[in-house]
Amino acid sequence: MIKDVQTAVIESNYDWTLVKIIADEGVGYGECFFALGLPDVIRRLSPLLIKQDPANITKLLRSLKTAGLLTSPHGGALQHALAGIETALWDLLGKSLGAPLYRLWGGAYRNDIRLYADCHGGEGLASLSSILAPRTPWWLGEATDDTPHEVHPKYHGGRAAEAFELDLDLYARRAREAAEHGYTILKFDLDIPNPHSRDDYNRTLEPQEIDLLVEVVRAVRESISEEVGLAVDCHWSLSATSGAALGRALEPFKLLWIEDPVPPESDEALARVVRESPTPIASGENHYSAVQFNRLLQLGMQIAAPDLQKTGFAEGRRIAELAELFTVPLAPHNISSPIGTLAAAHLASTIPNFLVLEHHGIDVPFWEELAAGRDAPLIQEGHVVLDDAPGLGVTLDEEVAYRYRKRDEAFFGNAP
Ligand code: MG
Repeated sequence: MIKDVQTAVIESNYDWTLVKIIADEGVGYGECFFALGLPDVIRRLSPLLIKQDPANITKLLRSLKTAGLLTSPHGGALQHALAGIETALWDLLGKSLGAPLYRLWGGAYRNDIRLYADCHGGEGLASLSSILAPRTPWWLGEATDDTPHEVHPKYHGGRAAEAFELDLDLYARRAREAAEHGYTILKFDLDIPNPHSRDDYNRTLEPQEIDLLVEVVRAVRESISEEVGLAVDCHWSLSATSGAALGRALEPFKLLWIEDPVPPESDEALARVVRESPTPIASGENHYSAVQFNRLLQLGMQIAAPDLQKTGFAEGRRIAELAELFTVPLAPHNISSPIGTLAAAHLASTIPNFLVLEHHGIDVPFWEELAAGRDAPLIQEGHVVLDDAPGLGVTLDEEVAYRYRKRDEAFFGNAP
């Protein structure tokens, strides 16, 4: 019987929102993709879980989903909350049965789960709040007058940065470092400030901007072995025409994918880019359901990139199986702590069409430390290795989590 549902938020490169479910049968942890007011959403849902049997996972999720049907039918904070609650319930069930999640979920196609390193825009640790404003995490030191308080240029307009000088060596160095750590696929952001852009909002890449992005990719490509694959992310910033032009310009580099060239709500734009770009197109981190993924697959999207801390795992499996019917591989989006990353790794183990899982924490100094219950590092040579440990295969080191907690949020039952 479920006795309590608690949350904690870790102030990392994003707000990692963790859920802990305590029941007579044991304890489980889960993780949600960040959202405005997320801990409050989970707190308000918790009466529907208290005194329930934690093993009735899909039935409980259905009742939570019904509760939010009128306020959050297609995604957003409620869905993020459900994904974290679902993960905690699966972890609890696995631990109470003594079985790893990949066993509960149908068994393993593979135990070494390949990760790709998200190398951002070439910079090191960048931390964003839940409104995507840059911040200095408090544990790195108090904000000073030099701390940037303006909104992030990448997400709030600001590609036109006349003073910005592109440091190609920085990109090359980042790529070499990630490859040296054993990652066999790297991803870089191409929605970067550039001195040639004359407008922040028109989604248009002029030829000199495309030339500059080609130089970025060339610098990365030439710094690493042919054995290492490359992908790029445009964060919905382009028009269909510019997305397709970029796809053509980057064809010689044989990228694994261009991610999210056009806005997530624009089906026709996605269809055009897919048709006209010789470089494959990945999308999906802003979609929540198999119904929505069905549309993307019908439009011809070549790589499915759901975020499982948004979709949850029953729906994630449905999305994976649907993609398999289209022969489309899955490269899940993931910006999580070890809790969310392990949950995604277990699903990746159990589906045939898994390609690679994102790791967005290569610059977070305490990422490994958060995981308790394993003797060896979780990530070795660019892979998460799943073993026979029950549930997620790790538990959360709450002492470490407390050290990096978000100070104005509750920490597992303790007031801020
Ligand atoms: Mg992305």
